[in-house]
Amino acid sequence: MSTVDFPIFANSFADDLPDMFEPWSAVVVENPTLLVVNDELAHELGFDPQWLRGADGVRFLVGNHPLPAMTPIAQAYAGHQFGGFSPRLGDGRALLLGDIVDTNGVRRDVHLKGSGRTRFSRGGDGKAAVGPMLREYVIGEAMNALGVPTTRALGVVATNELIPRDEMLPGAVLCRVALSHLRVGSFQYAATMSHDHVRRLADHSIARHYPELASSNDRYLDFFRAVMNKQARLIAQWMTIGFIHGVMNTDNMTISGETIDYGPCAFMDTYGPTTVFSSIDHQGRYAYGNQPHIAQWNLARLVETLLPLIRDDKDESIRVATETINEFPAIFEHEWQRLMRAKLGLTEQSSIETSLFHSLLTLFESHRIDYTNGMRALSDVVRGRRERMHSLFDMPEAFDAWARPWLNAVNSDGRDAHEIADAMDAINPAYIPRNHLVETALAAATRGDLLSLDSLMEVLLDPFHEREGLEQFTRPMPSDWDGYQTFCGT
Ligand code: AMP
Ligand code: MG
Repeated sequence: MSTVDFPIFANSFADDLPDMFEPWSAVVVENPTLLVVNDELAHELGFDPQWLRGADGVRFLVGNHPLPAMTPIAQAYAGHQFGGFSPRLGDGRALLLGDIVDTNGVRRDVHLKGSGRTRFSRGGDGKAAVGPMLREYVIGEAMNALGVPTTRALGVVATNELIPRDEMLPGAVLCRVALSHLRVGSFQYAATMSHDHVRRLADHSIARHYPELASSNDRYLDFFRAVMNKQARLIAQWMTIGFIHGVMNTDNMTISGETIDYGPCAFMDTYGPTTVFSSIDHQGRYAYGNQPHIAQWNLARLVETLLPLIRDDKDESIRVATETINEFPAIFEHEWQRLMRAKLGLTEQSSIETSLFHSLLTLFESHRIDYTNGMRALSDVVRGRRERMHSLFDMPEAFDAWARPWLNAVNSDGRDAHEIADAMDAINPAYIPRNHLVETALAAATRGDLLSLDSLMEVLLDPFHEREGLEQFTRPMPSDWDGYQTFCGT
């Protein structure tokens, strides 16, 4: 008999915030079958991947095999969805199994999605379909490989039940890992109860994510500023890889600064600030170019909940909160420029007008350049080879005109061109989860064929290292995919 070690479960959230959840159990899945396990993440968390693949492990991944001290809960939260406030959303098809300390000493939430109805389900069935849960797995792992803070999937299990959507679809449960599931919407929910609830939630958040602020004498304002900095950095990363979240409701914005909820997200191919893929985002509220603005709007909703804690005097509190939130554009711009410099092979010292960043993007937009391929081709130009970049343009002179001052700046400080180019390749990915590739692989997986998903994952997990024979993974969406749309909450 071998003994298996498991991470030890706790429920920090439930211990600290008794009014913000309902104890709940996952629905029993009669006939679960494993679709994927994330071996790397399993090891990091202290799970044996072989155990997760076995009968008990699979039942654990759907919430039917409790481990010691595991007390699942459905978390309550509120949220602005497309600008309209819902005071009570919460985990309508999700459960927090608890939190564990991983092998690096970091506390992580283990959470299920698709685990059945809860008190927060409203009209929903509490279920999730195979395609969207695998999509969360694929995009989350791709984001992680791209170096973007994100929740991650530990595994996806098929329930072998059909669930009603536009058509009947095979059901699945996703087991998701996050630094926490604290959201802007969690604060909005606490604020519907009392100032004291907000204070307890803020103290819990500080202890969990910003412990260095515990002794600050302006802790709630400093806490807000810390969240704002994390989010500014996150959104700058999204922008520089062409990621469109698609549903930046306040319940989908974390306090930890991780990307959460891969519903209608997509990567932009042709550069365009107004790009939208979500079928329900008719106004373009969550369009690519609007994301920094929306992040600031969401953060304003967060700081509103903290006002009573920031200063005793209401007007003074509003004044300092406003002053602080108004810093967001400059903080975002600083982060964005830092990343753009690196992507363009420039150092902090290179003397370059930041208007060159914008003129490059304008050039990409007017010549309908694939953003990822255009950025990746810059390193070849630094190596003295322009064919790759020129092949993207119908009028290559337009690129050459832009490139003159840029190359002067790149070469101005005597660094080795090949070293610069290699460093650029380490930040400009060759491979991103292109929409048509993801959809094709998910359609096959939904039919039970996981092979193309496996090969796609292999490519996406090593996005900066270009390999022979993978050209098909760098091609933009074919024109018969024009009008491609993504969907929420399925
Ligand atoms: P999302 O768009 O995934 O962020 O979800 C927004 C809200 O709708 C959350 O409160 C979810 O729990 C809830 N929700 C989404 N899909 C379902 C479903 N099938 N059943 C119950 N609740 C759901
Ligand atoms: Mg959500």
